[in-house]
Amino acid sequence: MIRSIKSFDLKGQTILMRLDLNVPLYNEKIEDDFRLISCVPTIKYCLEQGASIVIMSHLGRPEGKYKEKFSLISVGEALAAMLELPIKFSQDCISQDAIDTSLSLKQGEIHLLENLRFHSEEQENDPEFSRRLSRHGKLYINDAFGTAHRKHASNFGVVDNFKYYGIGLLVERELKYLKEMMSKPKRPLIVLLGGAKVSTKIELIKRYLHLADKIVIGGGMAFTFFKAMGYNIGKSLVESKMVKNARSIIDLARASGKELILPVDLICFDSISSSPIENAVDVREISDNIAGLDIGPKSIKLFNEIIDSASTIIWNGPMGVFEDDAFSNGTKSIAENLSNIAEGGVNVIAGGGDTSSALRYFGLGERLTHVSTGGGSSFELMSGNNLVALERLEV
Ligand code: AMP
Repeated sequence: MIRSIKSFDLKGQTILMRLDLNVPLYNEKIEDDFRLISCVPTIKYCLEQGASIVIMSHLGRPEGKYKEKFSLISVGEALAAMLELPIKFSQDCISQDAIDTSLSLKQGEIHLLENLRFHSEEQENDPEFSRRLSRHGKLYINDAFGTAHRKHASNFGVVDNFKYYGIGLLVERELKYLKEMMSKPKRPLIVLLGGAKVSTKIELIKRYLHLADKIVIGGGMAFTFFKAMGYNIGKSLVESKMVKNARSIIDLARASGKELILPVDLICFDSISSSPIENAVDVREISDNIAGLDIGPKSIKLFNEIIDSASTIIWNGPMGVFEDDAFSNGTKSIAENLSNIAEGGVNVIAGGGDTSSALRYFGLGERLTHVSTGGGSSFELMSGNNLVALERLEV
């Protein structure tokens, strides 16, 4: 059993809380604040219960050194604006000054520590670093779902130093939808995959080839399957080292009578004229100089008919290069349909960084049953694997 934050008496407690404030940055500005918004309910709950909070997180990959562009200062400012509360900030997560600030917190106050990964000891799961971190609070709460598949000092080693520890509301919600609901999904269960890479989703595909009723594959990863089927894919994206795996998945699906559905037409880009081709191209008619960058109208119709027949849907990965308006229609149409059926009572669960970005880009983020804040961690969980940092919290 893992203890929920709701099982503790929080009044007067100082909580050391691991959050995932690792938001995507573009030119040092927050590009997508989905992960920040998702942290708010746990923070508010703790404050309402009369606790004070010391927040720790990583941001980006500073590789164990201070790098200004990975500072959590601007993230802290954004969080303070969302909460409409001041947040104290310490420039070194393990300095004596920082620990003193935590020890002097009053009820309802928040203290944010600078990026944990400015110290290489964080990713090395160093025991002394964990011990220093633990001095910030009396109760440890992990609400950082996005890093729960990693064994680091702030989410694993640190637990050794606490008598009382548990999970926050976000991790609880992620477990509810990605683990509990997926253990007995309402059928038909449809898995809809897209994005660029087959390699990152291969375990998921293998697992759901047994568990799902149908698997639908769009986005750039479809071309690795087309290549395995012997089609000409022109200049479309392909993961050459995964072609064999794609072939064996096609064979496995055939042998087990499972439907694996791929696009039938595509919106393409002509590399010679450097422009989008106006009409959709049949998948068997891709010529050498073109690349498929979105699914076409026939594929949208086909995919949406399958989606309409589902009672549970897992969606991971955009259907095309949604960041470019010329190739966003496939992802948008599918996302709209998923939002509508979710509101009609179908369980629609989306995961992966690009999927949540796409949903927010189209203003549809709030309408699905659940949108996971995890990339790798949501894959691991849905692939049937345990998450090390959460296993560590079992009592
Ligand atoms: P992933 O991280 O594997 O889910 O990939 C997400 C990325 O895949 C997004 O940035 C999309 O622009 C990209 N993508 C989706 N479809 C295609 C495609 N047909 N060709 C190239 N890139 C694509």
